Amino acid sequence: MPTQFDPPSGTRDFLAADCDKRERAFAVLRSVFAGYGFEPLQTPAFERVDVLLGKYGEEADKLVFKILRRGEHEASGEADLALRYDMTVPLARVAAAYGSQLPTPYKRYAIGPVWRADRPGRGRYREFTQCDLDTLGATSPLADAEAFCAQHDAMVALGLTDFTINLNSRQVLSGLLEVFAVPAELGAGVLISLDKLDNLDPGVVIDEITGRGLDKSVAASLVGVMTAPDAVERIRVLLKPSDAGMAGLEQVDTLLGLARAQIPAERIVFAPRMVRGLSYYTGPIWEVTARGGTGSLGGGGRYDHLIEQLGGPDVPATGTSLGIERVLMLLPDDAAGRRGRIDAAVPVLGGEFAERSFALAAAARAAGLRASVYLGSSGKLGRQLRWASDSGARWCLIYGAAERDAGTVTVRDMVGGEQESVPADQITGYLAGKAGVADA
Ligand code: AMP
Repeated sequence: MPTQFDPPSGTRDFLAADCDKRERAFAVLRSVFAGYGFEPLQTPAFERVDVLLGKYGEEADKLVFKILRRGEHEASGEADLALRYDMTVPLARVAAAYGSQLPTPYKRYAIGPVWRADRPGRGRYREFTQCDLDTLGATSPLADAEAFCAQHDAMVALGLTDFTINLNSRQVLSGLLEVFAVPAELGAGVLISLDKLDNLDPGVVIDEITGRGLDKSVAASLVGVMTAPDAVERIRVLLKPSDAGMAGLEQVDTLLGLARAQIPAERIVFAPRMVRGLSYYTGPIWEVTARGGTGSLGGGGRYDHLIEQLGGPDVPATGTSLGIERVLMLLPDDAAGRRGRIDAAVPVLGGEFAERSFALAAAARAAGLRASVYLGSSGKLGRQLRWASDSGARWCLIYGAAERDAGTVTVRDMVGGEQESVPADQITGYLAGKAGVADA
């Protein structure tokens, strides 16, 4: 049962271990994305509401978190701002705002939280982090291949191997509708139903398609082909009379060829019934799934006119989005790999030593160590050593009456328990030598 202290449903608090895991993952992603020449972009968490609404379709518009006007305008009950729903619309706004100041092509990555007023469930949050890669201004299939290859490399670098990139093309889907003579007005609905074949029984999907107005025998043969064990071969033959279908197959084969050198063959497949919900895609599309995963881990495709529709210039575009929560769910918690909170713990053995101990912690930080003084009220060394050990400190820097008299600092190795007396005037250089050990 949720309590009054839980965060709002569909959001989470991240304590230190989670923060560590997430930050490490983001660092890996940034490094892989930068390795492909994508540059960072950060946009505000919220946008003007008119920038966001009317861009995602009616259903998604309902999921946009709106922000009421504030102060003297609060009584109006109107929303003038909204939390960003994804990273694509902000990208379109940036493309419109900065135009020719951006490099051509413009390859950017964006990592940050997005908000959707969705019904929370396993792997479905209302606040989650997307890691997007997009290229504006390139029609080349090399740009599509770069997007999913970079995403692939990032997932591998995070430690995932058991996942599949399902590749398809909107033209393959158009070709299929054409060869099955699906009336144009039914096309979009039929594709939405076909997209459910992974979760629903073929009979249910046939009924759904028939309910949309398509002849039952056509619906049955379409679903029959899509679910056949040799679906890929059959679809390749079936599409021969369709120009769109053949163009789509060529796109898929070009991308499979480009991926060959970097993605193991079993990790990328032609998936002719993969639709990707959004209708704005204009060419190749892909979606990443993993065994044991929840929904899609990521996906993307080419969306050549969307930037213009979103208010930006009419530039060709392609890109992909990775949902970090669903990726992290598949990775083990690396509790053992966590470093302690601090490298050096500095006991305070009474008020008269506070100033000196405080300065010792500062010297340790200046030498590159993470350091903290004892903040509790006990003056006992034993108690403070326990605190040092609980903090995961590697060293304890002890300064009390004996050290004052001898002009030294006692450095205790918390792993082996050995102690060393270091002349106080040499402690900075001594700690600098330790910094290399702490990083290792
Ligand atoms: P989309 O922008 O809907 O295409 O989503 C791109 C990626 O974001 C998906 O593949 C998921 O990994 C992730 N994602 C989408 N919705 C959610 C959600 N409600 N909670 C967590 N991750 C999500």
